[in-house]
Amino acid sequence: MSARQVKIYDVTLRDGTQGESISFSIHDKLRIAQKLDELGVHYIEGGWPGSNERDEGFFEEAKKLRLRKSAIAAFGSTRRSGKTCEEDSSVQALLKAETPAVTIVGKSWDFQVKEALRIPLKENIDIIHDSVTYLKKHVDEVFFDAEHFFDGYKRNPKYTIEALSAAKEAGADVIVLCDTNGGTLPWEVEEIVREVGLALGDVELGIHTHNDGEVGVANSLYAVREGVRQIQGTMNGYGERCGNANLCAIIPNLKLKLGIDCIADEELMRLYDVSHFIHELTNLPPLRHMAYVGESAFAHKGGLHVSAVMKNPDTYEHVKPDVVGNHRRVLISDLSGRSNIIYKAKELGIELDSQDKRVNAILNELKKLESEGYEFEGADASFELLIRKALGEYRKPFQLQSVRTLTDKRADDAEPITEATLIVQVDGVVEHTAAEGNGPVHALDQGLRKALEKFYPNLREVRLKDYRVRVLAAKHGTDAVVRVLIESGDGESDWSTVGVSQNIVEASLKALVDSIDYKILKDEARRAAKARG
Ligand SMILES: [Zn+2]
Repeated sequence: MSARQVKIYDVTLRDGTQGESISFSIHDKLRIAQKLDELGVHYIEGGWPGSNERDEGFFEEAKKLRLRKSAIAAFGSTRRSGKTCEEDSSVQALLKAETPAVTIVGKSWDFQVKEALRIPLKENIDIIHDSVTYLKKHVDEVFFDAEHFFDGYKRNPKYTIEALSAAKEAGADVIVLCDTNGGTLPWEVEEIVREVGLALGDVELGIHTHNDGEVGVANSLYAVREGVRQIQGTMNGYGERCGNANLCAIIPNLKLKLGIDCIADEELMRLYDVSHFIHELTNLPPLRHMAYVGESAFAHKGGLHVSAVMKNPDTYEHVKPDVVGNHRRVLISDLSGRSNIIYKAKELGIELDSQDKRVNAILNELKKLESEGYEFEGADASFELLIRKALGEYRKPFQLQSVRTLTDKRADDAEPITEATLIVQVDGVVEHTAAEGNGPVHALDQGLRKALEKFYPNLREVRLKDYRVRVLAAKHGTDAVVRVLIESGDGESDWSTVGVSQNIVEASLKALVDSIDYKILKDEARRAAKARG
């Protein structure tokens, strides 16, 4: 039995950029297009060439991209009232983009025609017919996005079907049903798509949903079950308001749950990487809770869950993490039991069994640190160091002999300058350094690496990627403490560390030292593995 094919139409570069705090440069957009091509989406909507310079620049540059599978599509609107397509500059901009596919959006809800366009209903039908006919003469594939389709259909089905029929007669390759305001529910989508299929007869349908009811993905899947052949959505669900339907959930659901052919197995394994690559470019905080591609999607915390997952992952996982390129994680917290520790140690290549006394030692140390305010769930690297220390497999790569920070503000309106001076010792050699930064953490990070680079040149690769501080409420008879979480990366992998103290500089320093310790140990372990061959 051959699986039904559904084509994936990505709108991250157009609708996605309309999300709050999301902005991509032309260069970013080109890199994203390449990643989407690696993922194997069928269409990449690059933007609206008639509307702004950045999108125009993208289409110019995109002509030089060598894409393996994806086709670039340009997006625009039906021609304006009172102008021919030849006279309409935004229709002409679509042709100038020279893409193999073009999507044009038109009105299908009578209310929008009357209120937004303020033209007679019949004229809108002519505009749709005209625009599609014109574009079909110049472009291989023309898709018609029926804006506000579901809202329109619920109020005046006859008019929306007239609008769609005009696009069909004019030769549109796919008619895309849009839930522009995102408020339609799955069973409404199911029923309406079925009725449209019957009313329009032989034509390919597409679906474009927004997530205002948190059912963008569900709505897309219901539409596919009713025969829709093109799904539009964005990576990570970026988009206006609550976002568009999230392709990172739609694609695996199609392939793994509905058995529908959309991208290849090897391409699906790239999903996690592509999702995270694009997310990095947004500069937004990490996506933890996303289905399939989130850091937490396969993270197990409860002791019972972990012990079951160790016996058979199917006990608490609906699919295998590696099919989407994600990985299983075991979290460590006061909820964890011996299984979590054993699992973590195993990940580090250390075999412990449940009778091993060292498991108790690690658990006790963990509980003691947690009572001081530590939390290791978001600090894998610090936890690895804790295990290695408890097992006697840790060599301190450097000693901090003295640390001093000084913040100098010379005038009311002057920016303060912070200087850190440090003395470190590595194998008996003492090194003094000073470094400046825009704050104590920045200055310490610079100073520490500057002092140690001579001994550990790979530290040059390390970058501070995220820094978070949380003040923990004071308990009886104690002062409040701060917990600092730091995320670092070296271009190859990312790791996170934690530090706790009543003093924010000290808490930051502990997390920074852990980060550097971890990088040095990681590189040493790799060199040792290489030497063993
Ligand atoms: Zn949209």
